[in-house]
Amino acid sequence: MKIICIGRNYAAHAQELKHELPTVPVFFLKPETAILKSNRPFYIPDFTNELHYELELVIKICKVGKYISEKFAHTYWDELALGIDFTARDLQRQQSEKGLPWEIAKAFDNSAPISKFFPKSQMEDLAKISFHLEMNGKTVQTGNSSEMIFSFDQIIAYVSKFFTLKQGDMIFTGTPAGVGPVKIGDMLEAYLGDKKVLWCRIK
Ligand code: MG
Repeated sequence: MKIICIGRNYAAHAQELKHELPTVPVFFLKPETAILKSNRPFYIPDFTNELHYELELVIKICKVGKYISEKFAHTYWDELALGIDFTARDLQRQQSEKGLPWEIAKAFDNSAPISKFFPKSQMEDLAKISFHLEMNGKTVQTGNSSEMIFSFDQIIAYVSKFFTLKQGDMIFTGTPAGVGPVKIGDMLEAYLGDKKVLWCRIK
């Protein structure tokens, strides 16, 4: 099982991090050990002083595929969740400046809290899925799948040129604007539509 994460898929977020808009999806991987399930608390690791939340829509692959065409990509995923792409922003900046890989900033243990998955058939309109993140009861991020630069299907088509997708693989589809740091004691609560599906206490 692998976790594929798309970066810079919302224009306003790319702008807040002063990145150019991508012409093809930017992506990186997290290992299975990054997953944090069941709304468990997250313990800030000692290697970062700037741990950021990034709330994202996550899709789950339901069958094996390689070189999937955009036209048929929708048949390769069947469930949707919310996930947080925890990022050690200080390390990411440091690595980027040196032209080094991002893994230490993005792929560490428990860096991917994830809600339970919901069948995509339950969603009214896949092109208009709204979601938001509250920190300590205040909304800090709001997003909608309509704002994604690359659609779910475009992401699957592009990523599957490089990696065979397998049943159970997850794709984090990028975060909207409003990312920011957490500190010990903070409470993150994520909503899919108006339903709270994921929460995480920072310890
Ligand atoms: Mg992200």
